[in-house]
Amino acid sequence: MAHLIDGKQFAAKLREKMTGQIASIKADHNIVPGLAVVLVGEDPASQVYVRSKGKQAKECGITSIEHKLEDTTSQEFLLNLINEMNNDPAINGILVQLPLPKHIDSAKVLEAIDPAKDVDGFHPINVGMLSTGGKGMVPCTPLGSLMMLQDYHGDLTGMTAVVVGRSNIVGKPMFNLLLQQSCTVTMAHSRTKNIEDVVRAADIVVAAVGVPELVKGDWIKPGATVIDVGINRIQLEDGKTKLVGDVHFESAQKVAGAITPVPGGVGPMTIACLLYNTMVAACRHNNVELPAA
Ligand code: NAD
Repeated sequence: MAHLIDGKQFAAKLREKMTGQIASIKADHNIVPGLAVVLVGEDPASQVYVRSKGKQAKECGITSIEHKLEDTTSQEFLLNLINEMNNDPAINGILVQLPLPKHIDSAKVLEAIDPAKDVDGFHPINVGMLSTGGKGMVPCTPLGSLMMLQDYHGDLTGMTAVVVGRSNIVGKPMFNLLLQQSCTVTMAHSRTKNIEDVVRAADIVVAAVGVPELVKGDWIKPGATVIDVGINRIQLEDGKTKLVGDVHFESAQKVAGAITPVPGGVGPMTIACLLYNTMVAACRHNNVELPAA
């Protein structure tokens, strides 16, 4: 049976380390990192995410500001708010919770955020920085996935990796992060031929497709490490629902060397990395070194 990579425990350890680092930035430099989260509309899942982001930020010593706006909010109002926050030295991270209502151009809004405060790492400048090896902001879910891989394997140099799914928020940045770690990376997607064989060639498999249990055990190379980014709610025969990943956990755990569960794998790392990015941004804005953990 595969070793279970416990994302919940790893995220808790990361938050504990950050709490110490943030306390020491405050003690030594009188800096308190600030995170502003903007939520437009009443999407229930987004409300849950925003609440836990705010709660965990406060627990780590980060000031958290929430802007809850009506779903009729105009794009102009939102852009003005972002401009104000870009110019507010107390705010180091700005996150606009997606999805936005249809009358708002999400790309325009994300591009209005100061790249140095773009803690989601979605701004085109940060996307470019990641692919050229610059010092930008890295998207939270791929960053959390990489941290778990490095914690488990140490150096990833020379390993073969397959990323399944080529989205801008997970697949593509994950590809670039693994490349930066000197893995030999293949990007598989919905048009990939013989995808099972492509996946079976990899020491590391990262699945981010949004298709419940797509990656089966017999797609996995024996001993490979599997990071399951997927979060899918499926309906069971008895009418209840259940969260599953993009990997068929039952069969994959019999073949893999290590695997992340769903829930409790990548999910908890995403918020922890948002706080990590906010702390890093606060240090960069104030020209101070990130204290050792
Ligand atoms: P997306 O829909 O933007 O992209 C999915 C990608 O998968 C596309 O590139 C598509 O080509 C590929 N794909 C679709 N069907 C495929 C198939 N049959 N075979 C191979 N490739 C296929 O999705 P996303 O935003 O990257 O999210 C992917 C999954 O990760 C979802 O389940 C989402 O809920 C989850 N997610 C989790 C977190 C987290 O915090 N853990 C964060 C973001 C996304």
